[in-house]
Amino acid sequence: MTRISQKAAQFSESVIREMTRLANRYEAINLAQGFPNFPAPAFIKDAACRAIQQDINQYAITWGAPSLRHAISSLYQRLYRIEVDPEREITVCCGATEAMIASVMATVNPGEQVLVFEPFYENYGPDIILAGARPVYFPLSPENGWEFSIDDLEAVIFDAEKQGGLKALILNTPNNPTGRVFSEEELSALAALSQRYDFLVITDEIYEHIVYDNHRHRPIASLPGMRSRTITISGLSKTFSVTGWRLGYAISVPEIAGAIRKVHDFLTVGAAAPLQQAAAEAILNADDYFESLAEDYRERRDLMFQILEEAGFRVWKPAGAYYMMADIRDVTSKNDRDFVEELVRDYGVATVPGTSFYRSTEKGQHLIRFAFCKTLDVLEEAGKRLRRLNRS
Ligand code: PLP
Repeated sequence: MTRISQKAAQFSESVIREMTRLANRYEAINLAQGFPNFPAPAFIKDAACRAIQQDINQYAITWGAPSLRHAISSLYQRLYRIEVDPEREITVCCGATEAMIASVMATVNPGEQVLVFEPFYENYGPDIILAGARPVYFPLSPENGWEFSIDDLEAVIFDAEKQGGLKALILNTPNNPTGRVFSEEELSALAALSQRYDFLVITDEIYEHIVYDNHRHRPIASLPGMRSRTITISGLSKTFSVTGWRLGYAISVPEIAGAIRKVHDFLTVGAAAPLQQAAAEAILNADDYFESLAEDYRERRDLMFQILEEAGFRVWKPAGAYYMMADIRDVTSKNDRDFVEELVRDYGVATVPGTSFYRSTEKGQHLIRFAFCKTLDVLEEAGKRLRRLNRS
């Protein structure tokens, strides 16, 4: 008798977290996992200390402390002109990670199909499998700068129709790992397809405040006809550099939110109460902070881009998020996994093999991903090590 469930047997351990362990073993610079090495802003930390001292230390309401839900609602009104009812439409979760799995479990039935753009953030596959559903993959091609053809996407959706139809599409913009911010035109086309073929859009917008140059984040829920068929997911991890606080949320119309709240309640009961209070205070006072955050990341992105070009990689300059995909073929004849191992062991820089963002190991073998959510001195040191590649 096998003691492992069929679902658990279908996916492997997170490659990204495995790379972090390797980075620790070789004392390498960790450009693999997306967590900042710099402190969280003082205003959010002070608010958390105050909340603990005020004894906000017992369970919050399972779907989120009222102060945080009201702060999120006012943020969406202020930034995106989206009206969100804090009483009925928000579920605060333990990170965007939990918000995503709770949303998938709340809306997708066993056997139903969920479309995911490939390459994808590695959690989406297991989320769909754990819901008993079937992932359908749609490739974004590096040759086209990770843009997609609407006609090709419609063809895949049309095919899925013949096998019972698509229940949902998972969108991630700004995108990990490609750095794309999907254009207004792409979002409008997705919105039209969602309405024509009647599928939900579950959108992971965790990097919404990290966008560069003249790009702008536009939540797909703000497009005509999309509010009722979208679940918008975001969180505090990336915006406030508090990945260890585990605070995220899902926004949807009440009918869907009711289901997400039930799943969330039985998965985790609730997110840390004092941290929710701190998050509420931070969100209400963050407009200037959002600007400085994006500007600081732009500096890191520009440095990382220069370093990787000088090291000999072909790179795509990200429009958002804090990752850079690099084509390794001008630097090595090895595949992604072997090269990533060489980088961590011999050069002291940990990265992520491209194949971990694809369903099969045939794709992405010529790609690796760098995370640049690190201070400039750490990126400079990584640069010194990586430039040796061009000389060896
Ligand atoms: N979604 C994407 C696209 C991510 O890249 C990450 C972290 O790397 C997460 C979600 C995780 O978010 P959280 O820390 O809120 O669970």
